[in-house]
Amino acid sequence: MNINKTDAAKDPLGAMLLEYMHGNIGVSITVEAENFEMTTMTGATMFREYSEMEQLEQHALALCKGKILDVGAGSGCHSLFLQQQGKDVHALDISPGCVQVLNERKIQHVIHQNLFSLKTCQYNTVLMLMNGIGICGTVDGLHFFFQFIPTLLAEGGQILVDSTDPFVLDGISREDYHPSEIYPGETDFIMKYKKISSEQFSWLYVDFDTLQSFAEFYGFQCERIIAGSDGEYLAKIHSHSH
Ligand code: SAH
Repeated sequence: MNINKTDAAKDPLGAMLLEYMHGNIGVSITVEAENFEMTTMTGATMFREYSEMEQLEQHALALCKGKILDVGAGSGCHSLFLQQQGKDVHALDISPGCVQVLNERKIQHVIHQNLFSLKTCQYNTVLMLMNGIGICGTVDGLHFFFQFIPTLLAEGGQILVDSTDPFVLDGISREDYHPSEIYPGETDFIMKYKKISSEQFSWLYVDFDTLQSFAEFYGFQCERIIAGSDGEYLAKIHSHSH
């Protein structure tokens, strides 16, 4: 598991968000998957306001309580809303450009670190949105995640995380998939903005049942809070005592 921060010269997302914030509102990055499929992520999407968010995100924000860690805060859209609600939120991001954006947007607590290099802390809510569990990279990465995450949680703390079922996303039938094959939700991406390219990084889309069985194996409860029609869902993971 990589625990380094992003190099500023390889930070297309941060560069794009900084330009957007400084008035260049038409900007977007391209995201290339290993199968050469290309998508774009616009500055406007990353800077979405509460009223423009998916119901799943709005629901997650309503469930946030206590001391909150916004993992991979990006432009800070969720942190800013929570802060405006008077909640105690810490925005964490690995990208120097994102961290500059978070500071300029006056998020009070900004942490420039890789999630997996955080030292013991006591959060009541760990918030991971926009296919947030993707940060685990692979199904195997879920083992590391569930062993690591208790060091960040206060007693009774919860993780609110979303993902998308790759079987629905890619239209792969479950019967055609054998557990010995590479899990269909494991993807490698490269992001590009103007001349800036990121390193290749792994991102995971995981179906709810797989996530739940990992969570339970590590002694957590995992509930599906909302499910959308394209395979997306919000899950709440918490310890058994609460
Ligand atoms: N949550 C935001 C941004 C999602 S994009 C939103 O919903 O709009 C994912 C973000 O996670 C990016 O800003 C990226 O820099 C950050 N990120 C990726 N890997 C990370 C890691 N290991 N630790 C901390 N942040 C990470």
